[in-house]
Amino acid sequence: MIDRRSFLKTSLAAASCASLPGLAFAQGSSPAPILIRGASIFDGRTPELITGVDVLIENGLISAIGENLDLPEGSEDGVAAQVIDADGRVLTPGMTDAHTHVMWNDTIENLIYASPHEYAGAMAAEGARRMLLRGFTTVRDMGGPSFGLKRAIDSGVVPGPRILPSGFFISQTSGHGDFDPRHNYLSPHFTPQMDPAYLRGWTIIADGVPEVRKAVRECLRYGASQIKIMGSGSVTGAHDPLDVTEYTPEELSAIVEEATHWGTYATIHAYTDVAIFNAIQAGVRSIEHGLFASEATMQLMKEKDIIYSTQFLSFSVGPDQAGMTGDSIPKYLEAQAGAKNGYERSKALGLKMAFGTDILGTIDLGPFQSQEFVARTAYYEPVEILTQATSINAELFERSGQRHPYQDGPLGVIAEGAYGDLLLVNGNPLEDITLMANPDEGLGLIMKGGTIFKNTL
Ligand SMILES: [Zn+2]
Repeated sequence: MIDRRSFLKTSLAAASCASLPGLAFAQGSSPAPILIRGASIFDGRTPELITGVDVLIENGLISAIGENLDLPEGSEDGVAAQVIDADGRVLTPGMTDAHTHVMWNDTIENLIYASPHEYAGAMAAEGARRMLLRGFTTVRDMGGPSFGLKRAIDSGVVPGPRILPSGFFISQTSGHGDFDPRHNYLSPHFTPQMDPAYLRGWTIIADGVPEVRKAVRECLRYGASQIKIMGSGSVTGAHDPLDVTEYTPEELSAIVEEATHWGTYATIHAYTDVAIFNAIQAGVRSIEHGLFASEATMQLMKEKDIIYSTQFLSFSVGPDQAGMTGDSIPKYLEAQAGAKNGYERSKALGLKMAFGTDILGTIDLGPFQSQEFVARTAYYEPVEILTQATSINAELFERSGQRHPYQDGPLGVIAEGAYGDLLLVNGNPLEDITLMANPDEGLGLIMKGGTIFKNTL
């Protein structure tokens, strides 16, 4: 007679060896111990590879790093545990992205006004799975209704990265989060009708100090990790040209104060020097884009230890390739010229640089997320880029304080007690960063929370 319990155990172990993500995943929050032997380690902080040590992952966390480790007592390779021979591959922390929009997999007009309500969620589940398979195990989401997706991922049903959600964009009327493409209509902001962008979780239009306070409180009620302010125009705004500054210093200070009361922080989409300066004075803890900041403003960012979250890929291609059409093309070219200045200035000042990609628009653009690794080589060494994508981003995520959703250990590093979010790279990314830009071939193993999602070893 077959013992049902041991049959199940063996089947599940076989399934994880064959790396069937669904089955491995279904084992839930206490995956079996995994011992990784023979890897060279980039720990997220140290510029040189560490060799000659093994890494043991138990209960989703790294439990030990040392020479000649063994699986814990009572577990045995292939049954309740697994030994992986890295064969000299480089082990890195899972990559992180400080500026995503996980829900934004179509035009914003379709997502808010034209598609069925549940379409955005269905697309985002697949988008999240692909993102994890590109090696991104944690993302800071910079706006959109991602709370439901986060819950599905955290529950272990949907594969995807950990998400630090912002939820609604906080935008002024005609600001960067005021997406309604119509110009001649009775605005929902002044008439008794609901704004579809609010109903679908994308934007709260808030003008004046009492309204912005209420908007921040609502984001926090949903579970926002941090607050995202739309603070200036941009290349793609429905109404606001690139030179526009949004929100007053009083409104910005009120937003920051509300976030601070909840132990977290605000960050701001801002291009103009005035918008960036006002936001710094108000107390934001990071700046998104920020490319037209003057030298003096960037110096202030450095003095106040503000983390700079800009994107290098988005302005390294021509307007066609960036998906620009019509009015967006001249705005894009203007931004591109300013961008080069911004990159050079921030590099020269040694600003603390996050790794973020801001890839959005259609699900097929997703692979560009990995191209950011290569775009940065115009300014940074591979080790600097990998540090940005791991420990520096993790430092930024820590600024959410008690609103940080993942409190069991540090992210973005390989250290005892850290999350078991790990990649095995088929080569040395410190010498060849293109391995990260081509994850299908470049990544041999992808693990999040001690669960294996890809294993080609
Ligand atoms: Zn963005």
